[in-house]
Parts: sequence; C-alpha cells; structure tokens
Amino acid sequence: MIVAEQKPIEEITANAFNYRRLLVLGCNSCVAECAAVGEKGTGQLASLLRMSAKMKNMDIDIEEKAIERQCVRDFVVLLEDDISDRDAVVSLGCGAGVQLVAEIYPEIPIIPALNTEFLGETQDQGLWLENCLGCGDCMLFYFGGICPLARCSKQLLNGPCGGSQNGVCEVNPDIPCAWQMIIDKLSKWGALDRLKDIYPPKDWSKKQGIGPRKVIREDQMR
Ligand code: SF4
Ligand code: SF4
Repeated sequence: MIVAEQKPIEEITANAFNYRRLLVLGCNSCVAECAAVGEKGTGQLASLLRMSAKMKNMDIDIEEKAIERQCVRDFVVLLEDDISDRDAVVSLGCGAGVQLVAEIYPEIPIIPALNTEFLGETQDQGLWLENCLGCGDCMLFYFGGICPLARCSKQLLNGPCGGSQNGVCEVNPDIPCAWQMIIDKLSKWGALDRLKDIYPPKDWSKKQGIGPRKVIREDQMR
C-alpha cells in the first residue's frame, strides 16, 4: 500500500484559505488506513478547517466528500457536480491521486493535504513499514522475500556490511539487519546457495531517469 501522513494544518490552511469555496476530497483506499482519510477522516479535516476559518474570521464555505480511489479515472470523473461550484480542492489522496484530480479538472487549483511517504506494509496497528522501492525488477526470490533495497540501510545486494551485530543494523539500532533476516530465511529453506551469485549494482534506469513509468496490459485496454 501507499503510506502517507497528513500535513500540518497550518500548511494546509496557508494554501487553502486563499480560496472561498473548498471541497475537501478524501480517498477510501490505501491512505484511508494510514492517514485516516476515509469518510470519517475527511469529515474531521473539513470540521477542523471550518473551525480554523471561524477562528480567523474568514468566510469560507467547505464541503466534503470521499471517493473510493482518487488515483482511478473512473471514480474521479464522477466528481464533476461536486467540483463545478468550488474554487479549490483540498485533496486527501496520495501524490498519484492529487495529480489525477488536477489533470481531470485543470481549471480547479488543488491543494495536497498529505505527504506521500512510501510503499509499505501495515506491520501493526498504527505502524507502517517501508518494504519496497518499486525498482522495476523484483529480486525477492533471491533474498528470501526480504528486500535489501528497501530494508538494508546501505541497500547492499551481496551480503551484510561489517557492522551487523546481534541481528541489529549498525546504522539504525531500532531496525533488524535485513541481511541477517535474509540469511536466516535462506538457511531455513536450505537455499543459501542463492547468495553465491554476485548481484551487480541495481539498474535504476528501470525506476528513474526516463520519465514516468508505464505498465500496459493490452488484455484490459478499452
Ligand atoms: S526488489 Fe525491487 S520490486 Fe522487489 S521488493 Fe525490492 S524494491 Fe520492490
Ligand atoms: S547492518 Fe545490516 S541492514 Fe544495516 S546496513 Fe549493514 S547489512 Fe544493511
């Protein structure tokens, strides 16, 4: 899932309160969980903005709505009626959602209310962990299902650095050494020989440097 956090309210109001009629637009997918911006969270931000406007003696009309996914065109195009009488949208979508709303309604300014952080897993209630950098060439088979790019502080591909001690990372003692986990997992599977190969430096051209990446599934195209 995409993990994000809400921006400080002062940052949101500094931009949003330049407009008189706002739509606070939530998203019910990934960020609904980590940033609490589904129906309820959208209502909470809208209330906070109303209260903040009142305290500043500003006359701002704030409406709210949450849609299933701000990053999917089929849902965003249905917002025409909600957006048409608004001066700006305060989006509680991730960066992808904000950009799609901005693209479909180019005449309406959009104010991001979240900081999009990373691709990760829900590890526990209230705890999310980055575990994939979206490198475009997944190597998890070789590393026992543990990504050294996302989880080793030095992104090492050919074994641990010299500082791994007692299963803990030398760079950040709050995290386990990813390489210790990889070796433990492959040992358990009797698959340590997967580490005999030397893995070359990651080819980051599959991730960056050539503009936005695309995935095309012709069987799903209309
Ligand atoms: S190897 Fe690449 S795609 Fe696979 S988990 Fe790591 S960053 Fe993500
Ligand atoms: S201690 Fe382990 S996780 Fe930390 S940088 Fe070294 S190999 Fe990577």
